[in-house]
Amino acid sequence: DILVGADGIWSAVRHQMFDLPMDEVGQLHASKHARYSGYTCFTGTCKHTPADIKEVAYKVFLGQEQYFGCTDTGHGWQHWWAFLPDPPGSASADQEPMLGRLRKEFSEWSPEIHDLFDATNPDVVKRRDLFDRLPLWKGWTDGAVALMGDAAHPTMPNLGQGGAMAIEDAYILGQELELANIQNSNEIQKILKSYERRRFVRASVAQFLSRNGSDLLVDWDKMRKNPIVGPIAMKSINLFQPITMDYLYSADF
Ligand SMILES: Cc1cc2nc3c(=O)[nH]c(=O)nc-3n(C[C@H](O)[C@H](O)[C@H](O)COP(=O)(O)OP(=O)(O)OC[C@H]3O[C@@H](n4cnc5c(N)ncnc54)[C@H](O)[C@@H]3O)c2cc1C
Repeated sequence: DILVGADGIWSAVRHQMFDLPMDEVGQLHASKHARYSGYTCFTGTCKHTPADIKEVAYKVFLGQEQYFGCTDTGHGWQHWWAFLPDPPGSASADQEPMLGRLRKEFSEWSPEIHDLFDATNPDVVKRRDLFDRLPLWKGWTDGAVALMGDAAHPTMPNLGQGGAMAIEDAYILGQELELANIQNSNEIQKILKSYERRRFVRASVAQFLSRNGSDLLVDWDKMRKNPIVGPIAMKSINLFQPITMDYLYSADF
């Protein structure tokens, strides 16, 4: 038999696999087992049709240490997300209703953002602190156990790749299992290792670039204005961005 730990960033399977204390599973112990991005994310959905829906389906509004994005999800619905630089775990101390706070934080921003807030039912607004981890150099598999998705490679949402990588993991593991002729437990280990080999580099690249994207949101101006780093970084971004985007946004099968 095979156990696949697809139990998200606070994976209990991952903890057990690496012999970490089982009473340290979860966000309360995040400082030991994950890295806080510096941002908390509010999300909501609402029935709303922006005037320019035929021209633009996805928008990002960038500001100083906060940003907002929204996308058409079909049938007249929009999904939106707002990033604010709160310390981790501050949700419980925040007494203010979430939409009220967002209206204040984005008070001088585009009216389009406020149209979305106005159209949103306060009960559907969610908030979560954004964490990721470094690639798991020790590997994603141990014997007949394998990690998948955020359990193996929690990824910042900035490039929209965490879920995509989880789906690719599942597809590739499915392929490996379908092709296999399992006669004994050694065979299972080989299959899981092959799955890991096929997925590790690509998922790690997505993790790295997504973290970079998240960090640059904070340090973009600092980087751009640095007389030495700025020009080199801007040249590299212009040169390599089309290649990396093509790599990331083409499916691994
Ligand atoms: C704000 C935001 C925006 C994002 N946008 C995108 C995007 O545009 N595109 C994209 O591809 N990705 C995006 N992502 C990332 C994506 O959401 C995750 O990478 C994806 O959900 C990971 O899927 P998963 O199944 O590995 O983990 P999860 O979605 O975390 O699922 C894990 C499941 O395991 C369950 N579980 C946990 N522990 C146990 C247990 N002990 N027993 C039983 N069940 C358990 C959990 O309840 C959960 O249902 C975004 C993430 C965030 C936070």
